[in-house]
Amino acid sequence: MKYLIETWGCQMNSHDSEKLEGLLLEQGHEPAAGMEDAELVLLNTCSIREKAVHKVYSELGWLREEKKKRPLLVGVAGCLAQQEQAALFKRAPHIDFVLGTMAIQQLPALVERARAGVRRVIDTGAYLDNHLFPPETARRGSSAKALVTIIEGCDHACTYCVVPTTRGPERHRPFQDVVAEVRGLVAQGYREVELLGQNVNSFQGGCSFAELLDRVAELDGLEWIRFTTSHPMNFTPALARTLARNPKVAPFLHLPVQSGSDAVLRRMRREYTVAQYLERLGYLQGGPADLCLSTDFIVGFPGETEQDFEATLALLEQVRYDQSFSFIYSPRPGTPALRLKDDLPHAEKLRRLTRLQARQTELTLASNQKMVGRALKARIETEAPLEGGHWLARTANWKNVHLMAPAGRRLPFRELVDIRVTGAGPHFLRAEAV
Ligand code: SF4
Repeated sequence: MKYLIETWGCQMNSHDSEKLEGLLLEQGHEPAAGMEDAELVLLNTCSIREKAVHKVYSELGWLREEKKKRPLLVGVAGCLAQQEQAALFKRAPHIDFVLGTMAIQQLPALVERARAGVRRVIDTGAYLDNHLFPPETARRGSSAKALVTIIEGCDHACTYCVVPTTRGPERHRPFQDVVAEVRGLVAQGYREVELLGQNVNSFQGGCSFAELLDRVAELDGLEWIRFTTSHPMNFTPALARTLARNPKVAPFLHLPVQSGSDAVLRRMRREYTVAQYLERLGYLQGGPADLCLSTDFIVGFPGETEQDFEATLALLEQVRYDQSFSFIYSPRPGTPALRLKDDLPHAEKLRRLTRLQARQTELTLASNQKMVGRALKARIETEAPLEGGHWLARTANWKNVHLMAPAGRRLPFRELVDIRVTGAGPHFLRAEAV
């Protein structure tokens, strides 16, 4: 069959899609050129916010009409599948199969049964060894860096989050497996990897996360290692030292804070106070000069007062994050936060979000402007120049670069090139290849 996989959500989901694609190829299927051509459409979904869920249902509505015109198998995988399970068939009876996040290795069996005409095929079982997915199966696309899972699931219990339900408890890959997978990726030509998990810095696969970074960094040919995501309470001085001292660990840290108010953090059950969070950032003192710091904010969490929000703005001002990802609180089914009174009007939540984002844009612009005039290295992320003649590239500290090269010069995909930064906007640097 010709298949098409549509993916929503985080890097974990993107990498799951690479695994799902590998399984379909091993089963003898082939990629469709486009939707019109597809005989199997697999939606790899996200349920972290309501908006993402709406997008999936809207796509399912479109696929229902497509199924009336031609033979088509429709499968739903990912966090929405794990969360809703068989209830998805009620809401969208044209779905042929539902595959949970911990059951992705069962995909070939589900496709076979659905092809044989079995209706409403489902596997959302908790296969707690799914983190031991055979690495050679994943089919990575033409990205500049390779994604590598090191840990699945999460043992924290933030009151707004569906992940502990949709991804299960923490399971850690043995560090030897991670190192072997990265070694194989380097042999395939990758020079950069991103180690993935809901909470990478609680890694316990035979060594600590800081030690894992050092072991991976020993591989010849590997240039940069990134990682995402980190819980502040698992951020250790040893990890900060590794970030500072190991030149292969890219100087970028995403450390989600969510709020600058202790009262809100308590209701979120984030397990830290603002002071404890700042103490952890203090571990980074004397760290790499170009370190970029990023965070997440949830605005309008139930009970957030104006003072709570002002405390978040004050934290933003104090830390001066290089970038942040901010969203209005989105109530999710089955989460403890649903029981909290949430009576702040949406318009007020939006006002707060707009204010926070406007200030962050100024801070990001200032952070980018500091790099103008610098000579740096950046990795080429496109195989050809885009419309407008620029190439996309990325610095070690995760700045997007629009890179111009002399006419006729081809820049080497996935390789590092020398650049000089000539300008800066809030979303990217402008640079020329030297
Ligand atoms: S640390 Fe909290 S927000 Fe992050 S995945 Fe775990 S429960 Fe969700």
